[in-house]
Amino acid sequence: MTEPLLSELSRPGREGHELPCGEVPSDALPEALTRARLPLPEVGELDVVRHFTRLSQKNYAIDLGFYPLGSCTMKYNPKINEVVARLPGFAAIHPYQPESSIQGALKLLYELQAMLAEITGFTAATLQPAAGAHGELCGMLLIRAYHQKRGERQRTRVLIPDSAHGTNPATAAMCGFTTVSVPTDERGNVDMRRLREHLDDTVAAMMLTNPNTLGLFEEHVLEMAEAVHRAGGLMYGDGANLNAILGAVKPAHVGFDVLHINTHKTFSTPHGGGGPGAGPVVVGEALEPFLPTPRVVRRADGSYGLDSSYPDSIGRMREFYGHFGVLVRAYTYIRMHGAEGLRQISDVAVLNANYLRVLLQAVYDLPYQRTCMHEFVLSGRRQKQQGVRTLDIAKRLIDYGFYPPTVYFPLIVEEAIMIEPTESETKDTLDAFARAMIEIAREVEQDPELVRTAPHTRELHRLDEVRAARKPVLRWTLNEAPANAT
Ligand SMILES: *Cc1c(COP(=O)(O)O)cnc(C)c1O
Repeated sequence: MTEPLLSELSRPGREGHELPCGEVPSDALPEALTRARLPLPEVGELDVVRHFTRLSQKNYAIDLGFYPLGSCTMKYNPKINEVVARLPGFAAIHPYQPESSIQGALKLLYELQAMLAEITGFTAATLQPAAGAHGELCGMLLIRAYHQKRGERQRTRVLIPDSAHGTNPATAAMCGFTTVSVPTDERGNVDMRRLREHLDDTVAAMMLTNPNTLGLFEEHVLEMAEAVHRAGGLMYGDGANLNAILGAVKPAHVGFDVLHINTHKTFSTPHGGGGPGAGPVVVGEALEPFLPTPRVVRRADGSYGLDSSYPDSIGRMREFYGHFGVLVRAYTYIRMHGAEGLRQISDVAVLNANYLRVLLQAVYDLPYQRTCMHEFVLSGRRQKQQGVRTLDIAKRLIDYGFYPPTVYFPLIVEEAIMIEPTESETKDTLDAFARAMIEIAREVEQDPELVRTAPHTRELHRLDEVRAARKPVLRWTLNEAPANAT
């Protein structure tokens, strides 16, 4: 059933508003500023309420159902985060207030820096970057500043595994580096032999995600870091997958020099639809002098403040101090769980992923036959032989009431289906999802057309996704149906 547009509900003379008396007599207004007729729908207040309530219920959200979007860590966002972020002392402060009047906010930022450094094993942090990709930009600018300070301007190349998130090569290129793609071996690790071929004094860094985007722990990470360091390069860590290793592995202890953290993923902020997030960057001693300013510091007298007196700093990454509200949520999440709780999060996230992996690997191909970390990547190549693509399977899941997993990423897996259940879900939910996936695999065998033409139960079927993303219709226009509907 397609919802009527407000313009279709409109009846001449029906009204849902009552304007206050104008302070200026209407005949005193210049004619050019008034409109005799404004073509707004004529509807009652209750019609408007029902219309927008219905529309709001068409959105899918983690608060409605399972959201196994691989690499995105769509975990439950505890509501206490929202309560804390809305406290007037946080929500109503102004960045130009004097330091003496925002000591609580500065203390929170200072303690969050310390907690993130502790969790990851590093010595210092900046909270300025606005998202993961922005954290990458910050981290790679730190690496560039480090080599320049040492007079090593010939270090222009950055090594990036072919399984990496697209933001990694994009970031390196934005910083003026040349990217070199390193292949993955048959076990799903970076191919060490091919990596070594690239190591020389032109290498600035390697950008590595660990666990990698196949959901696998890089078995040679120590060896890799040692080889890159021996060549004079630095190890950049993409920390988007931190949810797999909280309390179990500290990235600084396995050879990374710098790491960004997607707090909206690991430390919970609602981030479907693109934001806002936060991408704090943690570093060891070698990169600390280059961190963005102003830095949140604790002074000798115990007060907190903002300090810009770091001559080697790369400067600001963001207006003011980053996405403060998101940082309050991350702080709350970490404090609510404590060290033991964080460790449990990763243990259960990994357990949940492996449970689903084992249920599904009988009917879908699993290209890398290993215990996974917090997510795993299936291939729909067996189903493709029946003429059904991974995209079709994802669309069919919508009919079963599930948000589809990430598809066609990482690029090195044919017809990739990337599933990240997170720790928040019950066994019942995981079982229901597995049943749906197995049922769809059966449908592919018996009635492929049913899957190819899914979804059948929603009012919009297949969208022109490029057009929906690039030219979204977000505004009501008189008598115009959404252009992205097919
Ligand atoms: C999500 C993600 C990023 C980018 O993070 P944003 O916060 O979306 O900018 C980078 N790398 C990996 C592996 C990711 O999953």
